[in-house]
Amino acid sequence: MTETPEPPLGPEELAERKMRFLFGLRSKGVTEARVLAAMERIDRGQFVRGLFSARAYEDMPLPIACGQTISQPSIVGLMTQALDVGTRDTVLEVGTGSGYQAAVLACLARRVHTIDRHRRLVREAEELFRRLDLTNIVARAGDGSRGLPEQAPFDRILVTAAAEDPPGPLLSQLKIGGIMVLPVGQSDTVQSLIRVRRLETGFDYEELRPVRFVPLVEGMASD
Ligand code: SAH
Repeated sequence: MTETPEPPLGPEELAERKMRFLFGLRSKGVTEARVLAAMERIDRGQFVRGLFSARAYEDMPLPIACGQTISQPSIVGLMTQALDVGTRDTVLEVGTGSGYQAAVLACLARRVHTIDRHRRLVREAEELFRRLDLTNIVARAGDGSRGLPEQAPFDRILVTAAAEDPPGPLLSQLKIGGIMVLPVGQSDTVQSLIRVRRLETGFDYEELRPVRFVPLVEGMASD
């Protein structure tokens, strides 16, 4: 696909948009200083290409390659906040997409493993991580609904595509005391963001808010 990029923003305009971006996050409930600092450090403009890059600092999801989307920044912030990531944590993200959410997590965690069923998205995200010197992210192509057994268990798991129910393999790859945040729902329109905590004896489920994500699809994509 050929896209005509809009002219790049001047430095003042860019700084102004980034400031509004951060104010916007706060007003939507992203209030934790560590999360805001991570989102200030990671420039969303780097993760959106072509036609839509001028809208990178608006609070809306945007199309990326392979018919997928980069999530709305306030949702990235709220999900990151709900995950309560510690500096020593190993995190699994299912649904690399543009790599933006993984990059934000990488500022907070010890290590981030991120997995996507589209090889192309993984390749492009890896290039960006290298360019931005985010050395604690490991990206790989695979079916994330099976988790990443060779690296399990995880302190935290974040899923950025919606399943009907929390996938069993992901529940079993969560450490005791660990937290998983994910959208669940039976259709494209009615989904809830939930937080699952693994206890000694089972799981505790908490519903956080309505959301709308692309579906979690089993198996690898062809590209
Ligand atoms: N976190 C991303 C947004 C992801 S959109 C970002 O920050 O940009 C959801 C992603 O989930 C898509 O890229 C899609 O390819 C991926 N996905 C869907 N089903 C999957 C599966 N079973 N395993 C891995 N990735 C999956």
